[in-house]
Amino acid sequence: MKIEKEIANRKKEVSTLNRVHRNFPMVPKVVFGRGSFNQLGDILLPKRRNSDAPFIFLVDDFFNGKDLEQKLPWLFNDQIIFVSADEEPKTEQVDALVEKIKTDFEELPSGIVGIGGGTLLDLAKAVAIMLTNKGKSESYQGWDLVTKKSIYHVGIPTISGTGAEVSRTAVLSGPDKKLGINSDYTTYDQVVLDPNLLETVPKEQWFYTGMDCFIHCIESLNGTYLNAFSQSYGEKALDLCKEVFLGELSKEESEEKLMMASWHGGMSIAYSQVGVAHAMSYGLSYLLGVKHGIGNCLVFQHLSEFYPKGVKLFNEMKEKHNIEFPKGVCANLSEEDFDSMISVSLSMDALWENALGTNWRDKISPEKLRAIYSKI
Ligand code: NAD
Ligand code: ZN
Repeated sequence: MKIEKEIANRKKEVSTLNRVHRNFPMVPKVVFGRGSFNQLGDILLPKRRNSDAPFIFLVDDFFNGKDLEQKLPWLFNDQIIFVSADEEPKTEQVDALVEKIKTDFEELPSGIVGIGGGTLLDLAKAVAIMLTNKGKSESYQGWDLVTKKSIYHVGIPTISGTGAEVSRTAVLSGPDKKLGINSDYTTYDQVVLDPNLLETVPKEQWFYTGMDCFIHCIESLNGTYLNAFSQSYGEKALDLCKEVFLGELSKEESEEKLMMASWHGGMSIAYSQVGVAHAMSYGLSYLLGVKHGIGNCLVFQHLSEFYPKGVKLFNEMKEKHNIEFPKGVCANLSEEDFDSMISVSLSMDALWENALGTNWRDKISPEKLRAIYSKI
């Protein structure tokens, strides 16, 4: 039953994506630069309605007790909520946060500030939406189901790669599907890009999340949906990724460039689509809860048939940085498990169509996916 719902959702995605010219929102305000986080207080001030309408800071719990906590520009009855990014965001987590905020305050907050990686950025977008829209967040997973404008929300990435800071989706795991709240109200009102915040990212995580961006570029630039809009962003993001992962940049330059690569990579897929690695990584995540960045890497290493140049570059990057991937992830799976990953993956029509063209079903088979998954 669960899987049928998943597949039905994917079909809806295709019909939405096949609309000819999509009219999508971009982040209206962005500040970039080292130390720009210190401007947050000034940015929020004009958005404070009154002292009873607080700002809620949703912060990756890595920063609990760190310098950043001291620098948060809280005033009056603002609330700081630390959230673990160990697991990707869930609809029930969004609903619980919304409930808490509504219980703690008589009026709606002045805004939500999300600080962290893709997990926190998506969570904060969803909370901002659900504070003004009735019911449970799971009923908004899909395309353009949100009817009311969200409250003001600010996104502050602390790791680079997902492009969640620019995208119009907030990816959530719900009771029966993992799917984004895709809407014109999801996109952030304000983004703060401060490369200083990236300083503490551990190397392996830097690589996995950074490769999400690299894979966005490869899948967008090699896809049949490619157009001049996507290409212009995708090429820039790819050049930046090559500099960061294969060049000899200083740590500071590398942080700044990867932050902008993430932004451009996100813009590139906004007007095209991702491809084989994301479709297959989705199956891994659905069955085993493998996180987005690492799931993409686990699949992408085996995709030289689809993206020969991309995989060659990817392997060079992996070697240069001495990254070891986990092995045997699919070693003990049952036939039923493989079938479920394959069905979820093959239900993502738009991604396959982008990757292989309209006759993609003639070019890919369950057996082929089974063979790739078995190598992971
Ligand atoms: P993440 O947010 O899950 O964080 C990964 C790890 O890095 C966590 O342990 C976190 O605590 C840590 N971390 C983050 N910043 C740090 C810092 N400055 N110093 C030390 N540790 C830090 O990672 P991610 O890869 O950015 O996000 C993955 C999520 O993004 C998934 O839930 C995925 O679905 C989502 N995603 C969303 C979009 C979108 O367009 N909305 C696109 C791609 C992926
Ligand atoms: Zn991705």
